[in-house]
Amino acid sequence: MNDTPVIYLDNNATTMVAPEVLEEMLPYFNRWYGNPSSMHSFGGMVGRRIREARERLASLLGASEEEIIFTSCGTESDSTAIYAAIRSYPEKKHIITSRVEHPAVKNLCDYLAKNGYRVTTVGVDKSGNLDLDFLYDNLTPDTAIVSLMWANNETGVIFPVEEIAEKTAAAGIVLHTDAVQAVGKIPIDMQTNRIDMLSLSGHKLHAPKGIGALYVRKGTKFSPFLIGGHQEKGRRGGTENTASIIGLGKAAELAAAKMSEENTRVRELRDKLERELTQRIPNCFVNGKDAPRLPNTASIAFEFVEGEAILLLMNEHGICASSGSACTSGSLEPSHVLRAMGVPFTAAHGTIRYSLSVYNTEAEIDVVIEHMPGIIERLRQLSPFWKSGACMAS
Ligand code: PLP
Repeated sequence: MNDTPVIYLDNNATTMVAPEVLEEMLPYFNRWYGNPSSMHSFGGMVGRRIREARERLASLLGASEEEIIFTSCGTESDSTAIYAAIRSYPEKKHIITSRVEHPAVKNLCDYLAKNGYRVTTVGVDKSGNLDLDFLYDNLTPDTAIVSLMWANNETGVIFPVEEIAEKTAAAGIVLHTDAVQAVGKIPIDMQTNRIDMLSLSGHKLHAPKGIGALYVRKGTKFSPFLIGGHQEKGRRGGTENTASIIGLGKAAELAAAKMSEENTRVRELRDKLERELTQRIPNCFVNGKDAPRLPNTASIAFEFVEGEAILLLMNEHGICASSGSACTSGSLEPSHVLRAMGVPFTAAHGTIRYSLSVYNTEAEIDVVIEHMPGIIERLRQLSPFWKSGACMAS
């Protein structure tokens, strides 16, 4: 790493631990390190701080404390929810999900599809909006669970999960939402909807990595995923990750306080970034532009260039973001989300996701706006597609 100052626009990947969160956590590593289950007051004190964290998180969600189960991450929350439903209704063998879920849900559903379940995946249109008619037509008495994300991690597109909950509740079907990207960015009030289970993850809202939570509505049939001790009222065994739980509680409190800034100042910065880049750079567009979206996410396609190459040049200027391809497989396949939206291959490959947070400034956005046109121009001069004039056809 050189010492170029970092402009961090990758907050959907992970966020900085807020200084106030870190400060609250630190004493729980080596000063107040007792086990909250212990009989002595040294441990009991930690137990009280966990109760406070649970209250703070419940308050962010409009939930009651007993509806919150702390887990290790968003992925564990998603697995817990889906397994809870299929174990609670063993006779039901049908699952509904969408084509654009995070691997935490998608890969579990793919696994279940190979292991005795019929999985229906609902598609999206070119803006990323869910095909609601198809979803509702496929609800059956055999459906054990519908699992749909609240907001998409790549495009920020928001699904109408509260509206969908009316239909699933009327049909007596469990609805789980992966709200890992939504919590802390848009208002959520579980008192005014009928969603049964909701997953969240600390590291997406300025708490540490390795802590998550699952909301389970009172009265929802439940079966634990991690079977062990009596922690979390027997719903999730394992000694509590005390410092991180306390950190998540503080992060929830901060998120509630900063919600309006996220939806005004951060949204304006995101909109400025989109507006300026699409005006200054030819053959460039915003994925999901016409759909309801998170205030912090811009998924921008730069046609006829490679996302990974763009990221490398951005990195030279200290700008951190993500691409729309999955290079982990070595195949540079465009993301399943962009493919499901029908984004052309040449645009999906050149998609960059910029995800902001309340810690970003307008000066940082201006630096990105200044550098991006040159980066894209430089790469396009090397692109055989661009040079051959294929761009003219798009
Ligand atoms: N669901 C969504 C929508 C996500 O964006 C992520 C993380 O990127 C996860 C689930 C997984 O969360 P975790 O990293 O806490 O397991």
